[in-house]
Amino acid sequence: MYDTIIIGSGPAGLTAAIYAQRAQLHAVVVEREYMGTGQIAQSEQVDNYPGLPGINGYDLGEKLREHAESLGTTFVEGEGMRLHPEGTQWTLTLTDGTALEGKTIIYAAGASHRKLDIPGEEEFTGRGVSYCAVCDGAFYHGRTVVVIGGGDTALGDALLLSRIADTVYLVHRRAEFRANPTIQKRVREAPNIQLVTNAVPEEIQGKDSVTGVRILQQGTERILKADGVFVAVGIRPNTGLLQGVAKLDAQGYICAGEDGITSAPGLFAAGDARAKPLRQVVTAVADGANCVTAAQEYLDRQNG
Ligand code: NAP
Repeated sequence: MYDTIIIGSGPAGLTAAIYAQRAQLHAVVVEREYMGTGQIAQSEQVDNYPGLPGINGYDLGEKLREHAESLGTTFVEGEGMRLHPEGTQWTLTLTDGTALEGKTIIYAAGASHRKLDIPGEEEFTGRGVSYCAVCDGAFYHGRTVVVIGGGDTALGDALLLSRIADTVYLVHRRAEFRANPTIQKRVREAPNIQLVTNAVPEEIQGKDSVTGVRILQQGTERILKADGVFVAVGIRPNTGLLQGVAKLDAQGYICAGEDGITSAPGLFAAGDARAKPLRQVVTAVADGANCVTAAQEYLDRQNG
């Protein structure tokens, strides 16, 4: 019986592990991917994590993981299939049938890529369509790519790809980008990034692999010829496990304040899966720390 089962090994989960170890809680981190560190591994550069300007996302994730490991954190590889409360205890059943029991749960399963849901997207995934510029960008040396989206991820991807590819089309459905102004300035200054705004992607075209993207730009159809398409249109929370277990908002994010306290006693929410205004590494790690404090207080109350 664990004091807490931490679900997820991104910055929120790893920080929760660090705080749990320091609080001498009997804790385990359940990770979907062996040695995973979550979405941060896919950011080429993180410029807004205090004290570590410009750090590579993969390296930041590794540092967090090494810190958690150095304190003796136990990791279990597996994917949660069912989470249910029994009195004051929780049982997490993994897809391989393993059942873990805990007095509390810190839910830090993060979020996954949102899809465009247009023709060609699924068909060419892995054959020119990618959701990770850090992972797949190197295949496009000297070639032409399209990046779709207007947030921090899309603009970061466009910048990364501008150093590899010959031409980068950045396709965004509105005139204004939602990405932070610093990165917008760098994108506008990059000579080989072409901004294609007010443009909605309609179809990803190809034969054996991607050949281009059909877009509708202010009522006019255009085909952007390209060898690769990087989709960066946001995230959706990994909260399927919590349906009927805790209160979620209309988009599926977990309703919880900064203390991580959810509608389900003993279940705490941290990181990108929590409903909150700012999803950054710095807010994810804060959530991880706050959840352990809240879980500790909960355990103290249970112990009378
Ligand atoms: P995001 O901020 O939600 O941006 C998604 C973008 O995709 C938006 O521009 C949106 O357009 C567009 N979009 C959504 N659905 C679309 C569709 N069906 N077709 C075409 N375009 C579509 O997502 P994100 O960039 O992945 O960032 C997620 C969170 O992580 C944000 O809070 C972000 O600040 C954070 N983040 C931070 C950093 C960093 O600080 N280093 C790096 C990456 C991400 P609209 O603008 O029209 O809605």
